[in-house]
Amino acid sequence: MPSTFLLILAFLLPITPLYGQPTTTPPTTPQAPTPAVPAGVAGLLTQIERAVLAQDKPAYMALVVPEAGPLGDQVFRTEQGRWADDWVKNRVEVYKLKATPAEPGRGIQGSGPDRFVCRLKTTWKLPTSKRTRSTEFDAVFVRTEAGAWLYAGEAWCTAEHPATATFAGARVKFNPADAVVAKTASIAGAAMPEVRAHVDDFLGVKPTVVQEIKLYRSLAHLQHSIWLSYTEPLGGWNEPGEAIKVLVTPDSVRDIRGYLAHEYAHVATFVHGPNATDAPWWLLEGIAELASANYRPGATEARQRTIADWAAQDQLAPWEAIAPFPLKPEDEQYDRHVYTQGEDMLAWQTEQFGAQARNAFVASVCKGDSLDVASTKAFGKPWAAIDASWRNAAALLVKPEPENAP
Ligand SMILES: [Zn+2]
Repeated sequence: MPSTFLLILAFLLPITPLYGQPTTTPPTTPQAPTPAVPAGVAGLLTQIERAVLAQDKPAYMALVVPEAGPLGDQVFRTEQGRWADDWVKNRVEVYKLKATPAEPGRGIQGSGPDRFVCRLKTTWKLPTSKRTRSTEFDAVFVRTEAGAWLYAGEAWCTAEHPATATFAGARVKFNPADAVVAKTASIAGAAMPEVRAHVDDFLGVKPTVVQEIKLYRSLAHLQHSIWLSYTEPLGGWNEPGEAIKVLVTPDSVRDIRGYLAHEYAHVATFVHGPNATDAPWWLLEGIAELASANYRPGATEARQRTIADWAAQDQLAPWEAIAPFPLKPEDEQYDRHVYTQGEDMLAWQTEQFGAQARNAFVASVCKGDSLDVASTKAFGKPWAAIDASWRNAAALLVKPEPENAP
């Protein structure tokens, strides 16, 4: 349907009796008609605010589009479930939604009788945080056959990259109003067949899901989409069943293949089993870094220099310190170690035992085995021996004197 027609529809909506609130004081000066927020959507926003503040996940999830059916969105529903889990765990004391009717174009489908597109501003604050945060994005609400309005998330434009005999497919969701984002979306979609083939081959798996990718222009928007309690800076995100989320910045546009390969490596790692997200954080980030290293020029040399420096200064992290996500406050000095030390351990395992054994080790941990059981199965040695050999190798990187050579 052409977007011009939808814009006309959006303009006409306020004159229907279902929409808008009557005003008791007529305006003193003539004003252009402003599209109103449908009463059903205004009521829904209040219900959402109450559910979040009351930490009532079932009530909230009943206000979000279902997993399946004509209005269904399984990926969004999965993301929203984890988003709600966060505010059940980390109470929010301020949560306000404000919808301003929008007239989208440039590829985003506009409002209609059963669809309302708006600029949605969210303001929130946790008791543990000093400041109130906010973000704004184009959002969409849809009406069911029974007449109930539901929240459907961002009003994305969707670019489909269909499956082929060798490619399981990708779906890129983005806001086309921003030219840089639109260009990134097209580059990202075109790169996915190559990125998937490389990572699948590297990790020895073949996920069959049509991979969704969502592009964000602001850090606050990306953080808000993950958890209301999320405050750490980040460039990308993926959890089982969720979209690959990428923050569009000059860096990520330039290195989009590296970003996609890292996040898609998480997708490919999670197929090993339901315990994959309980695997040590360094292992999940380490394998994602290693699987994407070929797209990041100079990454391997930079990693080796860093490991050599850390080893020389006795700054390598204990594995337990870099296992939990997020790190414990007392271990925050190790945030780079999660990625760099994790990648180095897996790279060393590859050199010593081969890619197949390394992948068996990763799969075993993701299936719920301890590091000790997994390393005994994959390498024939307990974890303590693997750790000691790796630390020796790291120390030799900076002490290449002949007497220290093996
Ligand atoms: Zn990651």
